Amino acid sequence: MGWAMPMATIVICSLCSKEQDVQQNCSNCGACMGKYFCEICKFFDDDISKGQYHCDGCGICRTGGVDNFFHCDTCGCCYSNVLKDSHRCVERAMHHNCPVRFEYLFDSTKDISVLQCGHTIHLECMNEMRAHHHFSCPVCSRSACDMSATWRKLDEEVAATPMPDIYQKKMVWILCNDCSATSSVRFHVLGQKCPGCSSYNTRETRAAGRVPQDVRRTRPSRKLQPPGEMPSND
Ligand SMILES: [Zn+2]
Ligand SMILES: [Zn+2]
Ligand SMILES: [Zn+2]
Ligand SMILES: [Zn+2]
Ligand SMILES: [Zn+2]
Ligand SMILES: [Zn+2]
Ligand SMILES: [Zn+2]
Repeated sequence: MGWAMPMATIVICSLCSKEQDVQQNCSNCGACMGKYFCEICKFFDDDISKGQYHCDGCGICRTGGVDNFFHCDTCGCCYSNVLKDSHRCVERAMHHNCPVRFEYLFDSTKDISVLQCGHTIHLECMNEMRAHHHFSCPVCSRSACDMSATWRKLDEEVAATPMPDIYQKKMVWILCNDCSATSSVRFHVLGQKCPGCSSYNTRETRAAGRVPQDVRRTRPSRKLQPPGEMPSND
């Protein structure tokens, strides 16, 4: 999807040199000035391979072929038909800057990608994120795409990597970035899995109660030290 930039409001016919308001056919000689012409945007273009069309909802001319796109009123922009029943609506989704490279997305001429959460981002920025193994949305932290295969792989790795005894009973509170559930799970160095949706896209919120000895590693508060085990500052 793209945006066709409107041009001048006055044109000069290249055949008869008559200066006139922008229109598809010359008011003097009738020559066609552009195979694509938008009355509203006063925009014309001879190259119709871009598939220009005017979207009333967007209020601008877009490219990509009117048959390939639909306008979503909630998101306030045009999306590929592929997303018609599968995208998550976000109020005015396109009316913000790309969270990676700060460019306003609504009238960007670059390709836009819609993440699983409904947030939008340049396609090239998303590819860059993937190349750097960032798989969560920079806006809301939800997984940017279907990660179930990755989580299954992590399951296997976790199963194959038993934690040392000292961590066996360590519980941590996690907040799931995908389903927003909070749960208490057993700590694992490879990642904490949300028991609700099986996602490892979680963040630790606070240590759970009754945390064993190693608590002083993360919370160096003296009050938590059992007597006799006070660290010495020699
Ligand atoms: Zn003319
Ligand atoms: Zn238009
Ligand atoms: Zn539109
Ligand atoms: Zn939508
Ligand atoms: Zn971007
Ligand atoms: Zn998001
Ligand atoms: Zn979850």
